[in-house]
Amino acid sequence: MSKNLLFDVITNEIMDIVGHDDVTVQEAERVAYGMDVYLVPQIWLDSGLKPPRPEWIVFPESAGEISRLLKMASRHGIPVIPYGGGTGSQGGTVPLYGGILLDVKKMNHIIKIDEESLAVTVQPGVNGQHLEWTVNKKGFTLAHYPASQYGATVGGYVAARGSGTLSTKYGKAEDMVISMEIALPSGEVIRTLPVPSHACGPDLLQLFVGSEGTLGVITEITMRLDPIPEERRWRAYLFDDIRKGLEAGRRIMTRRLRPCTIRLYDENSTQRIVKRVLGLDVAGSYMVVGSDGDKESVDLEMRTIHDICSELNGKDLGPDLGEHWWKHRYDFYFPPLNLMLPQMFGTVETTATFDRIHDIYVAKKRVIEEGFKEWGATYIGHFSHWFPWGVMVYDRFIIEKPPQDPHEALQLHTEIWGKAARTSIQHGGILNDHHGIGFKLGWLMPEQYGAAWPVLQGIKDLLDPLGIMNPGKLGFIRRCK
Ligand SMILES: Cc1cc2nc3c(=O)[nH]c(=O)nc-3n(C[C@H](O)[C@H](O)[C@H](O)COP(=O)(O)OP(=O)(O)OC[C@H]3O[C@@H](n4cnc5c(N)ncnc54)[C@H](O)[C@@H]3O)c2cc1C
Repeated sequence: MSKNLLFDVITNEIMDIVGHDDVTVQEAERVAYGMDVYLVPQIWLDSGLKPPRPEWIVFPESAGEISRLLKMASRHGIPVIPYGGGTGSQGGTVPLYGGILLDVKKMNHIIKIDEESLAVTVQPGVNGQHLEWTVNKKGFTLAHYPASQYGATVGGYVAARGSGTLSTKYGKAEDMVISMEIALPSGEVIRTLPVPSHACGPDLLQLFVGSEGTLGVITEITMRLDPIPEERRWRAYLFDDIRKGLEAGRRIMTRRLRPCTIRLYDENSTQRIVKRVLGLDVAGSYMVVGSDGDKESVDLEMRTIHDICSELNGKDLGPDLGEHWWKHRYDFYFPPLNLMLPQMFGTVETTATFDRIHDIYVAKKRVIEEGFKEWGATYIGHFSHWFPWGVMVYDRFIIEKPPQDPHEALQLHTEIWGKAARTSIQHGGILNDHHGIGFKLGWLMPEQYGAAWPVLQGIKDLLDPLGIMNPGKLGFIRRCK
């Protein structure tokens, strides 16, 4: 929106709601808030092009203010984009059509730590690491350890269905949430039922989990806590190949053991990443396993895991290479070891049942390495979030020398994503496990859901008939013009 009379009118209405200090229209901030960690807007900016920018960045301090802002935005038909830490990788907070960027980080109070039920109630803008440190002081843990926890918010964890290093035992963010308060696009503020388990009809709570700011703004969240375990132990194994490692993981999970972590790197990652971080120069598939709890249960679990790995000729690398991995687990994601421009890369992760996951891995490796041979595309993957019925493959494509022209780069990027994602879907996988959809994958959502897609679109239209909430995301039709 150009700076005209209407712009001024709206700016003043926003100030009336949140005060003068909680809104900015400064150019530098508009540029900064135009991006998350999605590669494409970064390529855009890097090439001197302008990624989309919000007109207003607003810092609400209560659900009441958010409610009034949403009513005001509905009246004017302005997009509203909730923003937590901005660490998302799917373009979820990118204001494609401009509008109001709602940064909730001033709503950062830890409202209640319930030591009887082991639950914590927070405002959505609480930083993940701060929350972890706070509850640690009382002997608890949220046990949600994404590599982005220093920057991400609890609202972002839940809104994007995030997952942490210990998810195999403690679950994803969606499994930890007990209840929520949400400001609907109409401005009405609602609460889900007080507990997540019930027989009172369909699950309202899970409707808003993973909604990525398209159905409302999460204004309060109650999450489960766990006691800090007496001990956490690590051990590493080396398998001849990924197939054997996958079978070991499957046997561990289908025996119904509950390790906090199983992370299995494919041969490429073992050579390329594990070698750089751990200094382990070996051929094969490196697996790290963690178990936590009281000493007796950890002893028993680690012994059983060891037996399973030995049955499959997994070479015992001992505890040190496991411990070392745990201490350096975030190194993989930050300079100098992370991928960054001018490299082109993408995490095209998917989840599937055990009977399908190896086929998916092989098919995607082929699609990327053979389909994009002329670009020298490489494919690496690790299997890191395990479920009783299957596992997620965190797989990536990497192109060292992508096209320099941003339009050509976007074309190549879209083509790779389309092929990788469709390969996952065709083989019984899903579009995404824990990074969310944003606008990066929104265009593929109707294919993911098939005949069920209009059900989700119908819910969106019912809750947000004017389409003000985060337009252009999750594949929903844009109504707000
Ligand atoms: C280096 C790095 C490592 C990462 N590692 C992991 C990882 O290990 N596991 C993982 O799960 N993710 C990971 N991510 C991705 C990202 O950090 C997660 O998706 C995280 O949960 C996003 O939180 P955020 O607060 O930054 O959300 P944002 O990026 O601010 O927002 C994400 C989406 O949620 C919506 N949203 C945010 N707050 C609200 C709210 N209050 N109400 C409604 N909607 C809201 C936004 O509109 C947007 O659509 C990583 C990212 C980086 C950069």
